[in-house]
Amino acid sequence: MSALHQLRIADWLKTTPTGQTITVSGWVRTKRGNKDIAFVALSDGSTINTLQIVAELVNFDEEIIKKIQTGCSLRVTGALVASQGAGQTVDLQAQKIEILGEADAEKFPLQKKKHTLEFLREIAHLRPRTNTFGAILRIRHALAFAIHKYFNDHHFYYIHAPIITGSDAEGAGEMFRVSTIDPQNPPKTGNGEIDYSQDFFGKSANLTVSGQLESELAAMALSRVYTFGPTFRAENSNTARHLAEFWMIEPEMAFFELTDNMDLAEDFLQYLIKYAMEHCADDLVFLEKRLIEEESQLKKEDRNPMPLLEKLKFVSETAFERITYTEAVAILEKSGRKFEFPVKWGIDLQSEHERYLVEKHFKKPVILTNYPKDIKAFYMKLDEDGKTVRAMDVLFPGIGEIIGGSQREEDYEKLSKRIDEMGIHRESLWWYLETRQYGTVPHSGFGLGFERLVLFVTGMGNIRDVIPFPRTPKNLEF
Ligand code: ATP
Ligand code: MN
Repeated sequence: MSALHQLRIADWLKTTPTGQTITVSGWVRTKRGNKDIAFVALSDGSTINTLQIVAELVNFDEEIIKKIQTGCSLRVTGALVASQGAGQTVDLQAQKIEILGEADAEKFPLQKKKHTLEFLREIAHLRPRTNTFGAILRIRHALAFAIHKYFNDHHFYYIHAPIITGSDAEGAGEMFRVSTIDPQNPPKTGNGEIDYSQDFFGKSANLTVSGQLESELAAMALSRVYTFGPTFRAENSNTARHLAEFWMIEPEMAFFELTDNMDLAEDFLQYLIKYAMEHCADDLVFLEKRLIEEESQLKKEDRNPMPLLEKLKFVSETAFERITYTEAVAILEKSGRKFEFPVKWGIDLQSEHERYLVEKHFKKPVILTNYPKDIKAFYMKLDEDGKTVRAMDVLFPGIGEIIGGSQREEDYEKLSKRIDEMGIHRESLWWYLETRQYGTVPHSGFGLGFERLVLFVTGMGNIRDVIPFPRTPKNLEF
């Protein structure tokens, strides 16, 4: 049978065993046994659970049995039978064992003992073979799939925004330069600066920090669109919530005002959480147990107030609190808390403020709206008071900001004025401005950081552990 149609361990574990002959392939997690029999736990990544292979030693060459070690890969044919032992429902009574790739268990970096997440980051090429990362990668996949499904079901079109950009006006963060100029011998202009007109694109180019401006262009024709692609920020913030390369989901909708935008964000997030609970139950149960074990070392006040699954259920069923920035500042001022960054109207809220609102005050997700215009991007729609803009940030427990979005300024004159006020080079945005000259409409959108979502759903603490190969300052192995 073509490998394409072969059933996986996840499928066999759900099958009623009748002694049928099956073949499975995978990697050995553990081997134990005695002089007569060997029990091998085999994983093929299709589930957190392993298939128990039972090999009666008399039936096999001694050499083969010796080579079965943690980390090696096997193809096994045998009879699927009801298990005699506790802990699994079926066993595979091995008739034929083929060693595909040997591994010396003594040297294999993944030992049976528990490894720290920090150590596993150093062996990112092998960490998918651990239970924890297997679970995370399956959940990450399920969420990515659910994102496309949600948008498809709601009549959004998937737009591929470019990754290389010539505009540096988005202002979302520091950018990475893209260039083919010879660093030893760069062409110079008359005043000694590097002459990017001689570079590959004939101008200076960067990796994108957001696909928003391009998706706005598409929304002005297709009404509802979204991007889901890599974004890059060269900010030197070594936090547990920031990556230099991360994935962002950016829906953009014509005819949506701020409230519609909030309704979408809330419905979307709740759908994604429910989808994961429904489709990744085994993995979530595993991660919940792992977390409880890990947190048992901590003081009570440092632990999560709810076990993972309870938290997911709660957030997926509870209406998000919606308040304005101005109301939030009043709450923070009245809180009597001594924050590291003192609060006053006009400041950009720090993670400590966001988390106070979500975790201590409201004890549920919060959507903060109508921020001061000076701390937000140029394209956000100005409120009637002229001081605030129609921004919305969605704040999650344990995470802080998970979504940042806004209603966009659709008025040509007002947008033009903001661009000038903020000292942005308007010539580089002529195409963006033109959409406000030809058939402009009210529209809105937001950016959801994919890894922050995966962080929330898996209950992991560090964003480096929810992306296969993290890119962070001074870290580019693998
Ligand atoms: P923060 O204040 O947390 O640094 P931001 O306000 O700079 O985020 P936005 O420009 O609003 O972020 O981006 C939209 C979303 O993308 C954020 O809400 C967050 O979920 C995610 N995000 C932003 N920067 C990063 C990053 N460096 N790594 C991972 N996710 C990020
Ligand atoms: Mn933001």
